[in-house]
Amino acid sequence: MSSQEHPLGISFEFFPPSTDAGRDKLMLVRDELAARNPRFFSVTYGAGGSTQARTRDTVRTVSQSGVQTAPHLSCIGSEKAQLRDLLTQYREEGVKSLVALRGDMPSGMGSIGELRYANELVEFIRAETGDHFDIAVAAYPESHPQAANLDRDVENFARKMKAGANMAITQYFFTAEAYFNFVDKARALGVNQPIIPGIMPITNYTKLSRFSDACGAEIPRWMRKQLEGYGDDSDAIAKFGTDAVSRLCQRLLDGGAPGLHFYTLNQSAPVLKVVDNLVG
Ligand code: FAD
Repeated sequence: MSSQEHPLGISFEFFPPSTDAGRDKLMLVRDELAARNPRFFSVTYGAGGSTQARTRDTVRTVSQSGVQTAPHLSCIGSEKAQLRDLLTQYREEGVKSLVALRGDMPSGMGSIGELRYANELVEFIRAETGDHFDIAVAAYPESHPQAANLDRDVENFARKMKAGANMAITQYFFTAEAYFNFVDKARALGVNQPIIPGIMPITNYTKLSRFSDACGAEIPRWMRKQLEGYGDDSDAIAKFGTDAVSRLCQRLLDGGAPGLHFYTLNQSAPVLKVVDNLVG
């Protein structure tokens, strides 16, 4: 850790913007967040490589801030040769870390590709590039939606950590116990690497609800009731969201979480309000 690094070990995720206005806004957001000395930034990757060029452009843009930036990379629907080319390009561009994922097959897309699960992608990256990259993988404290149950999912998670990942970042969740339970289960299977909680700010209940259904993140009943009660009052939703997410983050840190990774949705204000509420 550099002496400059934020004491809570925070990191921030962006998605590749698709418009000029989105790109301009992201540069402002990048600078505001870089000023907090995060450990790293990361940039998402579209299913089946659909944002490959935009992910690379965005990595270049956000890394100009001087913050180490990790592209996400998914293997589903890709051939090894394509992945090899991308790894070579990233190496040439000075990228030092990656978030390695299986991804989801876009509907209507043909072949699954040569690598079926994230553990195979981690093995592939290690075989092709040795220790060049720090590799993060995804973890699901409330279970991946396709997993038979949490225990099977943790076994699969342990497999990809043992394939050579350096750390994990979790799917977002709103129940701290789910995270601690998942970490206990992973440690029992011999996983010693850091498991960083992924944190989703609450700003728009309709979008959050739709997204949570798709990715299997549970919005607890008490939170749903409260958020539904606010209707269209976006100020009340934002205030409730800041309070609830700040309390969650503080519990995670107090319970030993080794950092926090924020899903920024390319906005700085909601995550900074949370960060500013936290104490180390
Ligand atoms: P895997 O770890 O391969 O797991 C997928 C499923 O297969 C699980 O149910 C698991 O239990 C099971 N499984 C795993 N290995 C095996 C095995 N060897 N044998 C049998 N079953 C197995 N999506 C994007 O499209 N772009 C992104 O940039 C992106 N970033 C993300 C970042 C984070 C931090 C997280 C948590 C998710 C992200 N996702 C992203 C979503 C992710 O792509 C999906 O959740 C996807 O469905 C699973 O990817 P994975 O890498 O977790 O898959």
